[in-house]
Amino acid sequence: MASARPTGHRPMASQVRRPNSVSNGAARPPPAEDHAQFVSLATDLLTAIDREGCFKWLAPRFPQAFGYTEAELLDQPFMTFIHPADRAATSAALEKLSEGEPTLGLENRFRCQDGSYRRLAWTAIPTPEGLLCALARDITERGQPEAKRTRSFAREQSAALARKEGFVASVCHDVQQPLTVILAQTQFLQRQLARGETLPPEQLGTCLAYIFAAAARMRVMTQDLLDASVRQSGHTLAPFLARTELVALARQAVSEHEVVSKLHQFLFEAEVPTLEATVDETRVHRVLANLLTNAVNYSPNGGVVRVTVKASDGPDGKFALLSVCDEGVGIPQDDLPHVFDRFHRGANVVGRFAGTGLGLSSARELVEMHGGTISVESEEGKGSTFVVRLPLTPPAEATRLSPE
Ligand code: ADP
Repeated sequence: MASARPTGHRPMASQVRRPNSVSNGAARPPPAEDHAQFVSLATDLLTAIDREGCFKWLAPRFPQAFGYTEAELLDQPFMTFIHPADRAATSAALEKLSEGEPTLGLENRFRCQDGSYRRLAWTAIPTPEGLLCALARDITERGQPEAKRTRSFAREQSAALARKEGFVASVCHDVQQPLTVILAQTQFLQRQLARGETLPPEQLGTCLAYIFAAAARMRVMTQDLLDASVRQSGHTLAPFLARTELVALARQAVSEHEVVSKLHQFLFEAEVPTLEATVDETRVHRVLANLLTNAVNYSPNGGVVRVTVKASDGPDGKFALLSVCDEGVGIPQDDLPHVFDRFHRGANVVGRFAGTGLGLSSARELVEMHGGTISVESEEGKGSTFVVRLPLTPPAEATRLSPE
């Protein structure tokens, strides 16, 4: 191979003497000018490097591709342009080349004039004269989307992890409260028992009601979590439909909450004595329990919590209107459109009140599962009213979803 002037001004191909053509005058290479023309057309990044590792010849495209002039690269040590992190692998490949082993697919980053790096894949062969002929392919664009995808995937994963950690902390915090109530009440009863003291039936009833309400709250929370994990795994929640009396159901939910808060005054109004509907009783109870818990939580100074049950007629048939109204902190206007989104919490409650941001999204899903709707009206500092509209007869889709 080439031993002629390694100036880089002449194309390397003109310097190449193929071993089997050295003594064979018949197989002479074409004139240098033809090669020069040919090489100038080549869009590949061709170069030749000497034993000392310096650029000795460059195809015109090579310096251009990295923003250099030919003079800026010629005789410069090749390795100084390689990203420091890729130098060890590159040196190892050069070593093998010096032992006669070609390089196929070595990847490294090459520094451009502006300081940025291009990712290159190299094919190189040693020549008998001790030069290395190398062809580089710019694979920056190929690597970039992949690298970007990897980076954005990593970012998504860490955001999801942070959300999950925050969520777990929030759930633990929320579970602590009813657990503390249960522990405190049972300890109190155990102490009374140990002392041989009997409690007046009214006091005993209150203790048990506290325990019941706390356990019921934990049940709602765990059911919300279970539903969330069913959704997470890509499954559709199905209602367990049965004839249910909604007035009694709503009254029961109110009385469970009444015992836990002495600060609040609960008012229950039903426009009809009974209201039969075909619904998933446990889930409708959960919706009300969620709304009542929020009404209590977000009215830290107490006030009235009003629950009403109405029957109404609509173009789509008969339905029930269940509403829960409080005089609490209310919801900022900016947050109103988002309160039914998963994990969304109002700006006025974050850092002030514990919560997971899961209750309302779960409530909406449960209501929609019945073909119903849930809406809210609220004014910050004045209070909120949530209204659940449930068809008394479920739509065909809900019946289809309902397990046997
Ligand atoms: P959590 O109460 O656990 O934060 P929810 O999904 O039940 O989650 O509620 C979402 C958000 O809606 C709450 O964080 C709060 O900002 C707002 N919110 C819900 N109910 C009320 C209410 N009765 N009064 C004021 N804000 C409420």
